[in-house]
Amino acid sequence: MLEVSNVNTYIGKIKIIKNISLKIKAGEIVGLIGPNGAGKTTIMKTILGLTKFTGSITVGNRPVTETNHRALARVGALIEHPVIYPFLTGRQNLELYARNKRDLTQLVSTLQMDSYINNKAKGYSLGMKQKLGIAIALLNHPQLVILDEPMNGLDIEATIGVRKLIKRYADQGTAFLISSHILSELQKIMTQVVLITSGKIIVDQPIEEFNKTSKQKYKVLTEDNNRAMSLLQKEKIPFILKNNFLVIDQKNIFAIQDVLLKNNIHLQEILPLEASFEELVVNILDRERGKEDGR
Ligand code: ATP
Repeated sequence: MLEVSNVNTYIGKIKIIKNISLKIKAGEIVGLIGPNGAGKTTIMKTILGLTKFTGSITVGNRPVTETNHRALARVGALIEHPVIYPFLTGRQNLELYARNKRDLTQLVSTLQMDSYINNKAKGYSLGMKQKLGIAIALLNHPQLVILDEPMNGLDIEATIGVRKLIKRYADQGTAFLISSHILSELQKIMTQVVLITSGKIIVDQPIEEFNKTSKQKYKVLTEDNNRAMSLLQKEKIPFILKNNFLVIDQKNIFAIQDVLLKNNIHLQEILPLEASFEELVVNILDRERGKEDGR
C-alpha cells in the first residue's frame, strides 16, 4: 500500500529524515514512536507530499512527489491541527469531503458527535475538533490513513471509540500509520512498531516479535541475596537490587549461575522480567544514545 524507499527530507539545509525506508501493507496498523523532535511529523508530511525530499514514495504503486499528489486521492490524514472551517458546522465541514452520506452519518454516530455536529465548529473544544479531524481523515474509506497524535485531547470514551474505529477500518483493509506518545494506547492496536530517533529508523518489527526480542532482563532470586550481591560485585557482573530479587541482563545468565554454583548459593528462581512496552522503548532509546555518545 505504502512504500517509502531511501527517503531524505531537508528543512532548509538541515537533513531531518535520514535515508528512511518503510513498507505498510493493507490492514496493517503501524505505530510510529520516537522522542520529541525525532522526525515523526516530518516523515508523515513527506509521505503526504508536503515537503521536499529525495528517494521514492509510492502509494498503491503510484509515485508521490512534492508537486504530484494524485496518488494521495485515497489517503486520509490528520497532521498537527485538524483543518476545520470555524464558521461551518461540523457536518458541513464533513460534507466538504464526503462522497457518501451514510459513511458520514456512521462516523458521526460512532464518534458520538451527534449532539454538536450541527453547531458551528468555532465553538468546539479541543477534543471535539480532534474527533472531527479524525472523522475527516476516515471519510470515504481511504486505503491509507496517516494520524499524528490522534488521541490528543480525547477523553477515555472517545479514545476507546477511536481505537475501535481504527481496528474496524484496518479489518476492512485500510492501512494506518499512527504516531503517539501514549504508548499504552498504540500498543493496544498496532501490528507493527517503527521506532525513530534523530531522523533514522532503529526498529521496524511486528509487535509480537518486538515484545519477544526486547525482553532482555531477568529476575534472579537466591537463598542469600546479600552474599550473591557481594560475589557479583567482585566478579564485576552488573545487577540491580529490586525488592527482594536481583535484575540482570540476559547475556549474564550463565555467568551468574556459575558464580552461585561455585559458592554453594542456591538459586530459587530465574525468570524473564515482563518489561512494560514503555520500558522496552526507553531501553532501546538509551542503548541507541549510548552508541551515539560512543561514536
Ligand atoms: P514531537 O514528538 O515533538 O511532535 P516529531 O518526532 O514529530 O516530534 P518533527 O516535528 O518531525 O519531530 O521534527 C523533527 C526535527 O525537525 C526537529 O529537530 C525540528 O526542530 C525540526 N523541524 C521540524 N519542522 C521544522 C521547520 N519548519 N523548520 C525548522 N526545523 C523544523
